[in-house]
Amino acid sequence: MRSRIRTRDAVSALADERIPFPHTEHPTPCQDDPALFAFEEVADRLQRTKTIARAKLACSGCPVVQGCLKWALANPSLTPRGVWAATTPGKRGALRNGLVQRLGDDWVGVVADQDRRREQQQATPAVPPTVREQMLARLELELIPTRPQPYEPWREPLTPQRRADNRRLLERALAGKAPRRGRRRPPKPRSAP
Ligand code: SF4
Repeated sequence: MRSRIRTRDAVSALADERIPFPHTEHPTPCQDDPALFAFEEVADRLQRTKTIARAKLACSGCPVVQGCLKWALANPSLTPRGVWAATTPGKRGALRNGLVQRLGDDWVGVVADQDRRREQQQATPAVPPTVREQMLARLELELIPTRPQPYEPWREPLTPQRRADNRRLLERALAGKAPRRGRRRPPKPRSAP
């Protein structure tokens, strides 16, 4: 008899909603072959070990393995048996203990908050540079001490090293310390004939 919950409806009815089960368009290996993941029902010890290994292998190719692991750890009452995200019940218990030690008793809430913040950051559109930022970028390019030949300031990619050098030069220039290129010395007064 199957003791594992593998259907989306059953999962959503009972699960901790703060960490939802990951979405996937296709059936996962455990939905295709739930018996493979219910290793406790295999009587023979050697066969059970082989079943665990095969289930772990199947999980390793599953597209939602990371989210599945998080969900399985957050829902111990739904995952007391079987292989979930390539973990056995014993391994899941150890992982949960580690999470409690690191993040506290409400580690599920902490992880859910981290996930939400990450999703918000990813959903935030890239902000175009302001006029001031564009001017500073132009000034950085103007301050390049050694220009590559041919010099194409708007095409040459800036390496991290060059960017750091430019920033340093820019800061010196803004502080009035950079040498002013192209500035002529005043002519010496002519001596009287
Ligand atoms: S990773 Fe999770 S969803 Fe994927 S096959 Fe394993 S137990 Fe099933």
